[in-house]
Amino acid sequence: MRLPKYIKSVDNELWFTEDDRDNLKISYRVKEIVFSQMSDIQHVMILDSYDFGKMLVLDGVVQTTSIDGYIYNEMIAHIPLTLHQTPKRVLIIGGGDCGVAKEAVKYPEIRQIDMVEIDELVVDVCKKHLKEVSGNISDPRVSFIYADGVKYASKSNMSYDVIIVDSSDPVGPAVQLFELSFYTDLRSLLAGGGIMVCQSQSPVFHLSIMKQTYNRMSSLFDRTKIYTATVPTYPGGLWSFTIGMDKSIDLKDIKFDKDTKYVTKDLIGRCFKLPRFMEDSTG
Ligand code: SAM
Repeated sequence: MRLPKYIKSVDNELWFTEDDRDNLKISYRVKEIVFSQMSDIQHVMILDSYDFGKMLVLDGVVQTTSIDGYIYNEMIAHIPLTLHQTPKRVLIIGGGDCGVAKEAVKYPEIRQIDMVEIDELVVDVCKKHLKEVSGNISDPRVSFIYADGVKYASKSNMSYDVIIVDSSDPVGPAVQLFELSFYTDLRSLLAGGGIMVCQSQSPVFHLSIMKQTYNRMSSLFDRTKIYTATVPTYPGGLWSFTIGMDKSIDLKDIKFDKDTKYVTKDLIGRCFKLPRFMEDSTG
């Protein structure tokens, strides 16, 4: 079989190399290429790797894995959903692996989850081959809207309590998901007291993107904060999330009782404590 361009055979072993960064290449030893196909949007691959289990790879960049996808998905979902306290309508931009939707359906008070994903193939493939991340997502509250999140945000007249931008890296179709105009359109879809969160990349390798996201969100919300988690799959491990809201929430008042593997009530309070270099960059 002709190997996808990101995979090499070395001494009869399959290796996938993520080499989309100028000076950093990360290679994973692979047991099996479970799926590999070009969609209209990007190259979609599911690999079964030795150390990270099943992984979703888009245009040669690892998006999520069965070994640690839950860390990222729980952190980007439960922090805003818990801080909001009464979320009813949720918008997810991106999120094609369905991991965020899987966490959102744990809130019985939520009535509607709109997931705007540009590439239907990603959803199909993750439902079939990456159940460790997507779960058996069949909750009737989840509506899959296959569209460009930028276009959806500019045209929708919906009103949401929580908006989660679970985008890939700012390359290819996701570049515009980091623009101020996009955040502004999303802000206009938030109901009173609404909360919006974006994944804002690595504070180690992409500090400028994190700062840019923080500054753009700060121009739209009275209170903007950054929180972190360590996601081993992502380069450098340390990952940032930028959250915007209008009213201050006393973290001592929050209640958290969801079935999770990573997030706890105590962690929801602690994840906003930042290392000095991150505090200084968002001063
Ligand atoms: N958790 C992963 C991470 O942090 O890199 C990414 C989650 S998910 C796989 C990212 C999704 O964003 C992909 O399924 C991709 O197809 C989708 N996406 C990229 N650009 C988009 C756009 N303009 N509108 C909607 N979805 C988009």
